[in-house]
Amino acid sequence: MATAYIALGSNLGDRKKNLTTALFHLVREPRIILEKLSSFIETKPYGVTDQPDFLNGCCRIWTDLSPRQLLTALQAIEDKMGRVRTRRWGERIIDLDILLYDDITVNDPDLVIPHPDMKNRAFVLEPLKEIAPDLTAKL
Ligand code: ADP
Ligand code: MG
Repeated sequence: MATAYIALGSNLGDRKKNLTTALFHLVREPRIILEKLSSFIETKPYGVTDQPDFLNGCCRIWTDLSPRQLLTALQAIEDKMGRVRTRRWGERIIDLDILLYDDITVNDPDLVIPHPDMKNRAFVLEPLKEIAPDLTAKL
């Protein structure tokens, strides 16, 4: 089993309900075990600032899905929840990103792991630090 960290974010509708629903779907995935969950924190939008504030969190999972299979599973959850893809960094009911997957590096056009720029994003680092303090010290 691999250990992976997933970032969750929402800034449309009932944000807490959206994060919870995404976790509900994640838990029901047969090949994913939810192992640890951070608190949810309220953050200011990054990049595109004329949009509502976000609620963000992060979780640690165990999975035997490959990084690409995991991305597909996360996108299926986003789609099932009715996410509409608008502008980059724009508003969304749910965003599920792979932050880390063991110590694997992926550099494909549609999948980059570790997630680029995560070191610069407080909304990623803060929840990650809560569940993996040793790990963030090394970033
Ligand atoms: P963002 O999360 O940067 O706001 P999106 O959620 O709209 O953007 O995702 C855009 C694309 O980012 C996805 O279609 C996916 O292929 C790609 N992507 C690249 N690396 C990752 C990753 N580590 N986790 C999730 N998506 C990723
Ligand atoms: Mg995303």
